Amino acid sequence: MTYNFPENIKNMTPYEPITGEYKIRLDANESYINLSDEQKKELNERVNNLDFNRYPDPYAVKLCKAFGDLYNVNPNLVTAGNGSDELIALLCGTFFTKDDTVAVFSNDFSMYRVYCETYGVKCKVIPKREDLTIDVSKALEFIEHENISAIIFSNPCNPTSIGLTKDKVRCLINNTSALVILDEAYMDFWDESLLSEVENYKNLIILKTCSKSIGLAGIRLGFLIANKEITSLVRAVKSPYNVNTITQTCGEVILSDKAAVLTAAKEIVENKNELESEIKKLASSYPEEILNVYNSNTNFVFLKVKNGGKIFEELLNRGVAIRFMGEYLRISTGSEEENKALLENLRDILERGADE
Ligand SMILES: *Cc1c(COP(=O)(O)O)cnc(C)c1O
Repeated sequence: MTYNFPENIKNMTPYEPITGEYKIRLDANESYINLSDEQKKELNERVNNLDFNRYPDPYAVKLCKAFGDLYNVNPNLVTAGNGSDELIALLCGTFFTKDDTVAVFSNDFSMYRVYCETYGVKCKVIPKREDLTIDVSKALEFIEHENISAIIFSNPCNPTSIGLTKDKVRCLINNTSALVILDEAYMDFWDESLLSEVENYKNLIILKTCSKSIGLAGIRLGFLIANKEITSLVRAVKSPYNVNTITQTCGEVILSDKAAVLTAAKEIVENKNELESEIKKLASSYPEEILNVYNSNTNFVFLKVKNGGKIFEELLNRGVAIRFMGEYLRISTGSEEENKALLENLRDILERGADE
């Protein structure tokens, strides 16, 4: 029999992030803070002493313990992944059958839909309100009427930057028997996490990543936290050596430095607040160009604009990369100096645009 590519993947194209060298990178929501010299020195020592010839610990016990200590959760309910992307893919690939339908919101993190498509899982979209907030009662109705088995969303949301308070998230989880996959990638920048109560729910999975506030996007490390039963299944279906030894070691060292983690998140939020308020000032000077700046609970600012493509291209030409998303722009906070450079360039572009 001839081989044919499966229908659901045959027209897919590779993910293409911005490539090339830009002085200022504000396009991927990474942390602008690199490791300190002391942290690097400690990592070097630890890495030098690793047994490179041996497989990694399949359950990353020391790493999960460090995660548990940092976030105050039982490490037995924590599973590490090769980035939270791996965990999202794993859930889409193993937790659903062809009879299941997964719900996602629009706008939300695009990879949820990509992985559903990749694994041939049916996926339906719940629209958000006009102001991009989530309507929990509408979501619950949708879940009921459309026979949804699971819902996955980010809180606070990438790309909208908007958070849903924990009482509202609880209301969603408590009023459905569908599985709720709650992606708290940006929750270190806000204080509405459900991590400490994950054990109380039959139908909750929480995802975390070290790529944002922790500043370790380069080592690929994410976590899945859920009750005992779900955790046991996730550990059963994951590939045994999914998190390599170097990543486990780096993660353990950095997550154990609680003071550094908290200080970094606090500084990032302060810079984002400053960036957000400056962009709001620009919006009031150029109301025809910047149509809305959303109140952010994350490390980035999300804005609705008239000529997004033009602003994006002109910033790129000046060595500043941000994220262009149709009628919206998403700008991650950089350091104080990077934000200053971004704002000067943005102001200049808007001024020239207004002159034309
Ligand atoms: C960045 C991001 C992730 C990806 O995290 P990795 O651990 O780097 O794979 C997951 N979810 C959301 C909402 C993100 O913005």
